[in-house]
Amino acid sequence: MPSTECTATGQPRCQATTQAGAPCRAFAVGGPHCRMHDPRHVDAVREARARGGAKASKLRALRARRPHLDSPSGLVRWVAQLLGDVVDGRVAPDTARVLFYGVGQQRALLETSDLERRLAELEARAAQGKSRRWG
Ligand SMILES: [Zn+2]
Repeated sequence: MPSTECTATGQPRCQATTQAGAPCRAFAVGGPHCRMHDPRHVDAVREARARGGAKASKLRALRARRPHLDSPSGLVRWVAQLLGDVVDGRVAPDTARVLFYGVGQQRALLETSDLERRLAELEARAAQGKSRRWG
């Protein structure tokens, strides 16, 4: 009987059915339903869901804008975009400071890995030259 179902602490459970078709497991609040299923709160719940959806799509848009920072050209685009965002007030100066610091770190890492790659190429070429001359 759903009307007599209670939690271990004796609180009545919501009598609604979830969208998945299972009984709602939330506490009933001020009636037979939880806050999410209370017909008196339907509009507020719908608005909150819409706000959540808008926030989530904004986050997705920001993630889609995230550039690849594994090349100098990617860093250049990112810094240019970030400068514009700071000027337009879309990114707080404190946040920008941290991001610019990260850009500096990334630049150093790119330079180091580029030097490593070029050195490895030179060493491989030198080894080939040696084996050709002496081998
Ligand atoms: Zn419920």
